[in-house]
Amino acid sequence: MKCDICKSKDAVIYQPYSGRRLCKDCFIDDVRRRVREEAEKQGILKANKVLLAVSGGKDSLTLADTLASIVNPKKLIAFNIVEGISGYNRKEAAMKLKKYLDDLGIELISSSFKEEVGYSLDEMISSSKNRGLNIAACTFCGGFRRKLINNAGWKVKADLVATGHNLDDEAQTIIVNLLRGDIKRLVRLGDVPLKLSDRFVLRVKPLRKVYEWETTMYAYFKGFEFQDVECPYISQKPTLRARVRDLLYLIEEKNPGSLMRIVEEFDLISDNIKNNTSREELPRCKICGDPTSYGRDICKNCELLIKSGLMDQ
Ligand code: SF4
Ligand code: ZN
Ligand code: ZN
Repeated sequence: MKCDICKSKDAVIYQPYSGRRLCKDCFIDDVRRRVREEAEKQGILKANKVLLAVSGGKDSLTLADTLASIVNPKKLIAFNIVEGISGYNRKEAAMKLKKYLDDLGIELISSSFKEEVGYSLDEMISSSKNRGLNIAACTFCGGFRRKLINNAGWKVKADLVATGHNLDDEAQTIIVNLLRGDIKRLVRLGDVPLKLSDRFVLRVKPLRKVYEWETTMYAYFKGFEFQDVECPYISQKPTLRARVRDLLYLIEEKNPGSLMRIVEEFDLISDNIKNNTSREELPRCKICGDPTSYGRDICKNCELLIKSGLMDQ
């Protein structure tokens, strides 16, 4: 069967949500077109420097490759974090990643929890366990990763920080925040980024209109060998998100295009809300100075370290 776009090459991909069959080249162009559209809305095309948060997984490789095809790779700088999880060797993945990034002309910098916070993720978890606490690894990991990414963004004077979140992640986040009734967090999503604090480097998600299976196929077609070892703490991912993910996959399978519609419809609503909301600067943590949620005087990261006995109050 021939490709529905170029009508000449053999189709190798079926996109259930568009009903089209595409050849490899047209599929790659189609993914890049969507990333370009998002990149434009998110201000990436005009930015002088964009920090890419990369892990070595398929999403981060697709992120780097698509953006390098859209903007001058010299404007991009990749940032990799070593969390410090035994049995999960991010270093090896980072080496492979470095080679791909070198080929694309993107510089790679890295840092670790140990270097910047003083403790590896494993050390944070064992200290909190010793205190009889049951805090999920992902709670530590997500918060400190955000902190390090923001710090790196400042250090390299990036206008924006881009992460590899794909369409599936974005649809899940929208539904999870809706179910939690977390309207403040919900408003932050959407295609036009919202800056909540002058201390935050604005975060953007260029892959938010690309399905997860498409980032996998993109990486595969590009010959990327990505990290497929799962983090040993994966089972500690928040259960609500896991339930939403399973449910959304079921809906997408029966009604292809549902995830895309969730994100597209949400963008229309969020643009409306953003235009009608005045921006209020977030309060600062009295310990580390990072922005924190409204009504808090100590940020979540410092609170986790205090609770785990790793920081004095
Ligand atoms: Fe971090 Fe949790 Fe992801 Fe592991 S599964 S890398 S602990 S967020
Ligand atoms: Zn084609
Ligand atoms: Zn703090």
